[in-house]
Amino acid sequence: MKTDLKGLNARETEQWAVDHGLEPYRARQIRHWLLNRLAASCEDMQNLPKRIRSLVQKEALLGPLEEVTALTSDDGTRKYLFRLQDGHLVESVLIPERDHLTLCISSQAGCAMGCRFCSTGRQGFKRNLAPSEIIEQVIMVKRSLNNPEHLTNIVFMGMGEPLANYDAVVRAIENLIAQDGMNFSHRKVTLSTCGLVPEIERLGHDTTVNLAVSLNAADDETRSRLMPVNRKYPITRLLQACREFPLPNRRMITFEYILINGINDRDQDALKLARRLSGLRAKINLIPLNPGSEADMSPPPMERILRFQEILTHRHFTAIIRKSKGRDILAACGQLTGASMHP
Ligand code: SAH
Ligand code: SF4
Repeated sequence: MKTDLKGLNARETEQWAVDHGLEPYRARQIRHWLLNRLAASCEDMQNLPKRIRSLVQKEALLGPLEEVTALTSDDGTRKYLFRLQDGHLVESVLIPERDHLTLCISSQAGCAMGCRFCSTGRQGFKRNLAPSEIIEQVIMVKRSLNNPEHLTNIVFMGMGEPLANYDAVVRAIENLIAQDGMNFSHRKVTLSTCGLVPEIERLGHDTTVNLAVSLNAADDETRSRLMPVNRKYPITRLLQACREFPLPNRRMITFEYILINGINDRDQDALKLARRLSGLRAKINLIPLNPGSEADMSPPPMERILRFQEILTHRHFTAIIRKSKGRDILAACGQLTGASMHP
């Protein structure tokens, strides 16, 4: 079986090299070609002698993804559809911001968490992605850019629940932020979770990336109805884990709150949310629901959204209304299914 070099860390790559009769510094060169220079084939690896290039070609798995299509939205958002080697499909979304690009990547094909508002959840779980399948999304998108250095921010907010694929995601993060890897700043990598408490606790020890938590309701009854995971890890437990999460100086946890008309958007919901988050270093992203999996749910009218925000702001929270981008190509939050490329 071929070795998945992009999923190995520096030490493991070195071990692989030594096992194949190469000097350790060759591992650093190979790693540089794969993760930094984004080499698509061994032929590109010019400072390596031919015999080493052939060895890498023969022994290593280089391209775990195949680009199927890329669609660009009217607002500049670009959605990439990738096929895994076993045929499953995943999506990544490139979002232009004022002065940089953010890439939203997938951690699983499908998702097992079953959140009611989410199209990915509705589609069910296919499988976990390998570390290299996570990293390759970033590599392939970078390769497609005229200015790859403009891509500075990575968010794990695509398909799947990253903390349900813990080991692969942490490995991918390691290579994304390693200086001899893809060299992203750990301050610019964000992992979003539906709230798997034991893994949130582990994550704080294993990485220093940003944490975002999809909260979406301030009481257990509503949250359990929207997000089955809440039956296992109710709000008090989840927020306790957030309080204990080791945050570097001035860092905050982002709480995502999808606003759904008549379900979680009343004044009393905003007040309850403010009470529950008090004392937490929290900022709140309010996301008006995108048309997703449930026909009976809709976003609130704008005045309701603004009122909800005002209540939070009044209580000294930073609450941002996040305009969803890429809706016309079904690239917005909760719309990724790996299927419908023609809305
Ligand atoms: N599984 C992780 C990360 C992927 S979901 C998580 O749940 O956090 C990424 C984000 O999309 C989450 O914040 C989720 O709440 C949001 N989302 C899902 N469906 C949505 C919809 N229909 N409209 C708006 N946001 C949605
Ligand atoms: Fe999975 Fe996140 Fe969608 Fe919930 S919101 S079903 S956890 S991808």
